[in-house]
Amino acid sequence: MKPPAFDYLAPRTRDEALNLLAEQGDHAKVLAGGQSLIPLLNFRLAEPEILVDINQLGELGAIRAWDGGVAIGALARQSAVERSELVRERLPVLAEATGLIGHLPIRHRGTLGGNLAHADPASELPAVMLALEAELVLASRGGERTLAASQFFAGAMTTALRPDELLVEVRAPGLPARSGSAFVEVARRHGDYALVGAAAVVTLNAAGRCERVRLALCGAAPTPLRVPEAEQALVGELAAGDALAAAAERAAAASDPPADMHASAAFRRKLARVCARQAIQLAAQRAGGA
Ligand SMILES: Cc1cc2nc3c(=O)[nH]c(=O)nc-3n(C[C@H](O)[C@H](O)[C@H](O)COP(=O)(O)OP(=O)(O)OC[C@H]3O[C@@H](n4cnc5c(N)ncnc54)[C@H](O)[C@@H]3O)c2cc1C
Repeated sequence: MKPPAFDYLAPRTRDEALNLLAEQGDHAKVLAGGQSLIPLLNFRLAEPEILVDINQLGELGAIRAWDGGVAIGALARQSAVERSELVRERLPVLAEATGLIGHLPIRHRGTLGGNLAHADPASELPAVMLALEAELVLASRGGERTLAASQFFAGAMTTALRPDELLVEVRAPGLPARSGSAFVEVARRHGDYALVGAAAVVTLNAAGRCERVRLALCGAAPTPLRVPEAEQALVGELAAGDALAAAAERAAAASDPPADMHASAAFRRKLARVCARQAIQLAAQRAGGA
């Protein structure tokens, strides 16, 4: 189908973009990589009167060191995130999960910010942001506010972004020593959205037991799902045996997955158990555990 008629504005500066969003309110939609918005327009699932194309705001594409971790501009292409030496070295789980998004041409256009603002429950990166305890910087004409990733995702395809706000940066702190991370998903075909995925960050103590675990799932609920009860099951334990099984069981129990033509809710819950177990185990191995 053809998209509905819309006006197209391409601001050259961030201030210009924020002024346009403030003036147009919910008549306008931000256009970043267009990999989700353009299909929505073509199917007439979104009918904005104005598109505000932010692709000329090159300053929003930067990737820089921040707090032992990385700060990434919202307009950074997914392929740039995946290939960034800084990201691969400091937050390898982000590079790992980004590489699972669609196919390379999609990642060359699609942006980190667009992916998070789109807030698809099956999307990998929102879950990664929860596991990394990332924060998101939202800007409007009135100033900036910073939200924890856990405060940003409000429901399926719904975020805390107001119509006059632009997501400008995503910041994730570095991981402590003896940490490992992993992203594991099950998809029907290579490049498909995940049926379910799990992001895990595990920090071990000197004895090789779990000191801290962070686990978040995608495809398991209307929003990305952090599972503190699964994390707690592993503290002081080896990431193996009964403790690992208990954590995976708790991840499945916390899930509230959708049923659709791709998979039943019961199957997705089983996948949540499998993905959680594999992601935690792999993260612990990468942290130097057995
Ligand atoms: C065939 C195909 C397969 C895909 N597979 C996957 C997959 O496996 N996993 C996955 O996660 N994604 C997948 N995607 C989606 C892809 O990751 C998109 O790039 C992403 O969802 C949207 O990013 P974008 O930059 O293209 O944003 P756009 O499509 O331009 O925008 C998406 C939404 O975010 C808003 N927005 C964009 N940037 C900002 C900003 N800075 N501030 C405020 N609002 C903003 C827009 O207004 C719009 O509502 C797939 C897409 C395609 C076409």
